[in-house]
Amino acid sequence: PDFPVLLEARDLGASHGQLVAVREVSLQLKAGEVVALVGSNGAGKTTLLRTLAGVHPAGGGSVHLAGADVTALPAHRRVQQGLALVPEGRRLFADMTVRENLLLAQEHRGERRDGPPAWTIARVVQALPALAPLMNRPAGALSGGQRQAAAIARALMTNPRVLLIDEVSLGLSPRAVDEVYAHLAELRGQAGTTLLLVEQDLGRAMAFADRVLCLREGRIVLAAPAAGLDRQTVTDAYFGME
Ligand code: ATP
Repeated sequence: PDFPVLLEARDLGASHGQLVAVREVSLQLKAGEVVALVGSNGAGKTTLLRTLAGVHPAGGGSVHLAGADVTALPAHRRVQQGLALVPEGRRLFADMTVRENLLLAQEHRGERRDGPPAWTIARVVQALPALAPLMNRPAGALSGGQRQAAAIARALMTNPRVLLIDEVSLGLSPRAVDEVYAHLAELRGQAGTTLLLVEQDLGRAMAFADRVLCLREGRIVLAAPAAGLDRQTVTDAYFGME
């Protein structure tokens, strides 16, 4: 079936001073797709996600959301248009409760113009039941896995059409990683969830995603459906052995 393209990058570039971290990256995310972005340390994954989200300036090329060019829009305007980032380190307000963090995010969302109902605290708790007993806890008191779940919930409160999640399992225990993926699996079952996630763990990425993108030295060196993809092909691309 021909699903519409929700997020698109065309020849996107990004630098840190003299260092070019993202080079002419073109990618398309279709509605409902789950795409994993892999690559070694320093390949540019975080910079690419931040550039898509508008947190880092594009050094060239463009970003399009549901057909509209958002390259000139600051991050908060992209959030209003339905593009949400779950950053590395999660960045929750540690002294605020989980509920307060979620309500704050809700204030920054735009109008939902399509499909699924708006996210509310009640709907978030339904989708991520593990958060229910944590709502009144300060975010700073959560475990790593709980914090990741809360950060995903916070992003959901902005009614994203596309969710960008950096370093899904970094710093989490294997059990916490399982829990976070169980949450993500629930989300993908719901209409209108399109995910681009950075995952260090190749096995996880290939098992969970519909498609895998591999970044090396700022370029996409592999883009393939996860089904039928063998690990060696990905590791070769990863290390530049192809
Ligand atoms: P990691 O998994 O280590 O986070 P990554 O694939 O996400 O790696 P980036 O963090 O995007 O890669 O880094 C890409 C390149 O840009 C690296 O060479 C890195 O050293 C450099 N870089 C990243 N952030 C900065 C910064 N704030 N200032 C200068 N250089 C940076």
